[in-house]
Amino acid sequence: MESQQRSPLLEVKGNIELKRPLVKAHSRLPLPGSSFKRGRDQMEDVVEPEKKRTRGPGTASKFAASQPRAPVRTTVPPTQGQTAAPKLPKKTGLRCSTAVATVLKNQKPGPAAPAQKPGTAAPPKLEGKKPSKRPAWDLKGQLCDLNAELKCCREKTRTLDQENQQLRDQLREAQQQATDLGAERRTLEGELSRVRAQAEQGQQELGNLSAHVLELEERLSTQESLVEELQKEQLGLQEERRGLATRLEEQEKRLQASEAALSGSQAEVASLRKETAAQVALLAERGERLHWLEMERRRLHNQLQELKGNIRVFCRVRPVLPGEPTPPPGFLLFPSGPGGPSDPSTHVSLFRSDERRGTLSGVPAAPTRYDFSFDRVFPPGSGQDEVFEEIAMLVQSALDGYPVCIFAYGQTGSGKTFTMEGGPGEDPQMEGLIPRALRHLFSVAQELSSQGWTYSFVASYVEIYNETVRDLLATGTRKGQGGDCEIRRVGPGSEELTVTNARYVPVSCEGEVEALLHLARQNRAVARTAQNERSSRSHSVFQLQISGEHAGRGLQCGAPLNLVDLAGSERLDPGLAFGPGERERLRETQAINSSLSTLGLVIMALSNKESHVPYRNSKLTYLLQNSLGGSAKMLMFVNISPLEENASESLNSLRFASKVNQCVIGTAQANRK
Ligand code: ADP
Ligand code: MG
Repeated sequence: MESQQRSPLLEVKGNIELKRPLVKAHSRLPLPGSSFKRGRDQMEDVVEPEKKRTRGPGTASKFAASQPRAPVRTTVPPTQGQTAAPKLPKKTGLRCSTAVATVLKNQKPGPAAPAQKPGTAAPPKLEGKKPSKRPAWDLKGQLCDLNAELKCCREKTRTLDQENQQLRDQLREAQQQATDLGAERRTLEGELSRVRAQAEQGQQELGNLSAHVLELEERLSTQESLVEELQKEQLGLQEERRGLATRLEEQEKRLQASEAALSGSQAEVASLRKETAAQVALLAERGERLHWLEMERRRLHNQLQELKGNIRVFCRVRPVLPGEPTPPPGFLLFPSGPGGPSDPSTHVSLFRSDERRGTLSGVPAAPTRYDFSFDRVFPPGSGQDEVFEEIAMLVQSALDGYPVCIFAYGQTGSGKTFTMEGGPGEDPQMEGLIPRALRHLFSVAQELSSQGWTYSFVASYVEIYNETVRDLLATGTRKGQGGDCEIRRVGPGSEELTVTNARYVPVSCEGEVEALLHLARQNRAVARTAQNERSSRSHSVFQLQISGEHAGRGLQCGAPLNLVDLAGSERLDPGLAFGPGERERLRETQAINSSLSTLGLVIMALSNKESHVPYRNSKLTYLLQNSLGGSAKMLMFVNISPLEENASESLNSLRFASKVNQCVIGTAQANRK
């Protein structure tokens, strides 16, 4: 760098040295930059030592002796150096006179000498001997000397003028040269500054370039490391690629296998689809067939029920309870059916001894036998399940769209409530008809759902006491209270009836039904008093509204199922009828008897196909009017006490039931004895 920077300078220096010859070689002027600036002053200084020398004592003689002026002046060229130039005082005076004297000494006697006047002393000889001083009197000689001296001075002056002119010319030339050199110097200085600027710029550029080089080197190293990394990465990727290629190969193999399996599966699927379509068609056909079968089943079922009788009567004799007197053997007999002991019993015989007949003959008369025949007779040992089995088909008629009414008729304590609701406790074997019937309905409805049928059930439970209706499912403040319930038609022109202010509870499982029965038992317990066991004096009506729909075929069916626990059928003892508090009891009994006899009359009117059916004569028949007659199915349980003491009431019950049975079923009449 130093060398690079220096090189232009050296170049300039070289130029300067080369340009020196611009100064004339023969010039004796001082070099520019040293004494050149002094100019005229310097020139005077050069002259000045001469003056000093001439001032000293004996100067004139020395000057005269060593430097004869004239010959020198003529031989030295005017351009020679100052050393050769004559040093002349600017002033005359003593120095001038001394010079004149010197000149005069050097001069050869001129032609003026002969012009010396005779008589005047000859001028002293100048050569070889110092002229002697003219005597004072030799004025002429002195004048002559003075003239000579003047002449010499003039000559000298002219010479000096010439020299002066020469010197001036030289000075001008030198000044011109100095001017040129100055210009040249400025040019060179300009060039120098330009070169310096260039050098600075070059240095700056060099610096920039160095920085750039450093930067590039840095980038290069970064790039190199990057390249190294990339190479490593590439190696890794190559490795990975090899692994992937291997996996790809495996996958391709698997894919090929899968494709082969898929094509196999597709063929299988196609065949399965064909098979499925065939199955679907078959299923549709079978569904159609099933539906036809179901409808046929319903038709046949109904036909069977009708053949059995739209009004059927079952007799159930309860067992003797612990603590009760054992009835005499043979008091009640259950003769076998025509098919033998395996045949379900349909007959019951009651033996009653007639005390009056015995008194008349004096011999105890044989007990009178009363035979009754019903659709079915359940002796004391019959279980709840056995009883239900007989009515299950009837209950199913409600699902098929036929209204069903099941009554429990009998004196108080004969087992009506046991038959309908079940025995006390949680024993499932003791469950009555209501929970069993509902469970059966739920189960059949579930089965029918697979054929497209949807069923819903809504339960209500009311009590009719003394011709007033009370809700047994009432909750809260209405619990156990007397009824402000009324039986009304759902709407004007509608056949459907509803009980106002009674709860209608949707049910779908046994648990819900059990909860409702429990609530009804609680409501009855609240209403019970010591003097009046009201439950036995009232009818309990459990109603289940069944609605079925087959959305696919646009079919609807539904009918009410009524399970009625009738009030005790016993008659009031005429001897007790006039006792205190018995008037109310009498009125109750009359109401019960009235409603029970109305029920009998309604059944008879329906049986005889009378135009007027007295439904309105009692609340019970009014409430049940849609479930009696027409396509409705009715079943009456006549509950009988096994005790001999209840023989009279049992006989009454059996007679009532028999009447019902006779009225409707012709076969019963044929069987009647
Ligand atoms: P009702 O309702 O007709 O007044 P209950 O159903 O209350 O008569 O029956 C009276 C008593 O007899 C109850 O204690 C009951 O448990 C019992 N009972 C009735 N029928 C049967 C039967 N089939 N098996 C066992 N106990 C019965
Ligand atoms: Mg009862």
